[in-house]
Amino acid sequence: MIKTRAIVLHRFPYSDSSFIVKALTEESGIVSFIVKGGKKKESPFRGALDPLALSEVVFRQNPNTELQFIKEATLLDWRKDLRNDLLSLAKAQVITEMILRYAPQGVPLQEEFERLEQALHEFNETCGSTANTPTHKSNIFAQWLLDTCDMWGYNLDLTTCSRCGNTLDKPAADFFPETGGFVCQACLGVDTPRARSETLQGLWALRNGDKIERPEFTENALLTYLRHHIGFLKEIHSIKFLNETRKLFGQ
Ligand SMILES: [Zn+2]
Repeated sequence: MIKTRAIVLHRFPYSDSSFIVKALTEESGIVSFIVKGGKKKESPFRGALDPLALSEVVFRQNPNTELQFIKEATLLDWRKDLRNDLLSLAKAQVITEMILRYAPQGVPLQEEFERLEQALHEFNETCGSTANTPTHKSNIFAQWLLDTCDMWGYNLDLTTCSRCGNTLDKPAADFFPETGGFVCQACLGVDTPRARSETLQGLWALRNGDKIERPEFTENALLTYLRHHIGFLKEIHSIKFLNETRKLFGQ
């Protein structure tokens, strides 16, 4: 029997009454659960297996099957405030889909669990009506992307010019998301930068822990960088929803 905290990444119907739930567990990495009778109103799991929820689950790990039977699931945090904030919700969905598609399967992912929990907790806190936190809501997704580059071995150096090797003391003059290279003003010279100033300002703010004013540019640059390294094998479907939501909120 394994008892562990788990964050629900995805849930889909399996039969008339059952669900399959994919969760990132603190102890065992990504685990797929079959939840028989989970769709019934009187299901003992209630909100504990809703996507994005943090729960404590108990299950018996059977190495001979991909689908594990869940015995208990106790809800720890449903993230009510995050669910009421469409843009944050859209970003959280991209995060969970990226973990589901790109994180290694069948191995413990403790660091991924901690970083995901931190991001979802911060979203929920900053979305609350009495939000009183030092975290900038607009930095959460970008910070998760930056940390994930690091975790998955594609460390992005935000402080060094990739051409001359000098340390940047102000926003870079250009950034190449395909390679992750920053270029200082001296190296760029009279060339026109390819990156937008919003992207460069945002990456600089992220480095310094300052509020990112137009996060969509920074997020897209980091997504491009990460996807170039991971490869384009699998499409991230929830990015479409994020882009629709950004339009709705004028960003
Ligand atoms: Zn330089």
